[in-house]
Amino acid sequence: MTIIDGKLTAKNLREKLAIEVAEMKSEYGVQPSLTVVMVGDDPASQVYVKNKVQQTQAIGMISSEINMPANCSQSVLLDQIKALNHDSSVHGILVQLPLPHHIDESAVIAAIDPNKDVDGFHAINSGRLFNGDLGAMVPCTPQGCVLLIKQHLGGDLSGKHVVVIGRSNIVGKPVAMLLLQENCTVTITHSRTRNLPEVCRQADIVVAAVGIAEFVKADWIKEGATVIDVGINRVITHDGKYKLVGDVDYQAVIEGCGAITPVPGGVGPMTIACLLKNTLLAAQATISKRSV
Ligand code: NAD
Repeated sequence: MTIIDGKLTAKNLREKLAIEVAEMKSEYGVQPSLTVVMVGDDPASQVYVKNKVQQTQAIGMISSEINMPANCSQSVLLDQIKALNHDSSVHGILVQLPLPHHIDESAVIAAIDPNKDVDGFHAINSGRLFNGDLGAMVPCTPQGCVLLIKQHLGGDLSGKHVVVIGRSNIVGKPVAMLLLQENCTVTITHSRTRNLPEVCRQADIVVAAVGIAEFVKADWIKEGATVIDVGINRVITHDGKYKLVGDVDYQAVIEGCGAITPVPGGVGPMTIACLLKNTLLAAQATISKRSV
């Protein structure tokens, strides 16, 4: 049984990206830059943004943060995004979600230039991914899941049966599309799926993106299967402290599966590493445009 080390894989990816960033700077004088827009002061979002900014700078990219008040209007936020779209020194734009309730998230995502949409949530990028267009800006967490699966099982995933639990636009659907591109047989399951344990037992690979702590049980997993746990759930322990657990009953599943990602230290670290990768791709695209 292998514990898939997302922390190490993410570190290796960041090191590789740092070399590419330095090369881009010396060859073309371009330093990739990411701007994170945050509305309000949600503590969890603040931690995520701080991590993103730190890791962006650590690999030699430019990172800036725009903080807007929680009561900022949608039109002010859209104007800010328009300005960033037109600013050629900004390669990647990320609006930290969730946004306050008075702001329509989908309108905000739609306002981001698809070529700067490093989260990969814009409908143009979802469409590109759906069409199998390799130029798509792919959402970071699904990208991280696939990198971990490929690293563990080797490059060729042809014919593997993957059961994805969850059909969200940010994890379930895009990870299913990516695995389809890898020639997997993909089953997407969700809250209305019947006989979920039985469906899961058929899988060579299970990707759990449900948002329910320790939801996937040991007897749902075929012996030797690979389990990718996307979930991040904060639960209270017996002594009143908080801890993070995934969507998989890790201690039980670990007994029979072939490989599993831990929480924390599995998919989580890959998400930011893939955000950096997308920022580099966005910057590279501006260089190829210049040289055409
Ligand atoms: P979501 O709430 O948008 O979607 C959850 C999905 O689970 C839905 O499609 C729903 O149909 C399905 N579901 C709910 N109850 C179910 C049930 N009983 N049986 C089968 N399916 C069921 O959540 P999301 O944004 O996709 O995130 C899922 C989890 O992944 C959360 O724990 C979230 O915190 C975590 N997450 C982690 C990262 C990361 O970087 N590691 C990134 C994004 C999300």
